[in-house]
Amino acid sequence: MGRSYLFECVKCGYRASVSGRSDRGPHLAVQTIHCLDCRELYDAVTELKVPVAPGATLNQWKLKPGPFDSGPDETPAPTFAHALNVLVVGSDKPLAWKKFRRRCPVSPRHRIRTWQAPGKCPKCGAFLDGSGLPARIWD
Ligand SMILES: [Zn+2]
Ligand SMILES: [Zn+2]
Repeated sequence: MGRSYLFECVKCGYRASVSGRSDRGPHLAVQTIHCLDCRELYDAVTELKVPVAPGATLNQWKLKPGPFDSGPDETPAPTFAHALNVLVVGSDKPLAWKKFRRRCPVSPRHRIRTWQAPGKCPKCGAFLDGSGLPARIWD
């Protein structure tokens, strides 16, 4: 079961509702990230259970990246909110885990680091207070 916690900065008032670690529910896995460009904490979707279409392959990697490609052509990870909206629960279709590279939901070019509680405020660098109570139970 996945849970988000409320983290609050007593110094600058920054608040984030994130899991504060890598967390996983039956249909969704997230890792909290710190985006150095946005100066925000996010729960990045790392894995999502998706229905397997008959005959379709989950492997969408290009075989040969062109010389100007930065790398494999990846399906961008959905945002956490979007992933919750599309969660397939109680379906009798076959499901498979689809993995995503951790990225900032604003831009894939942003530099991110994984963030683990107890950790520092992305705005001011003070340690964040976690309430210890789940702010949200999501899967
Ligand atoms: Zn702060
Ligand atoms: Zn960002």
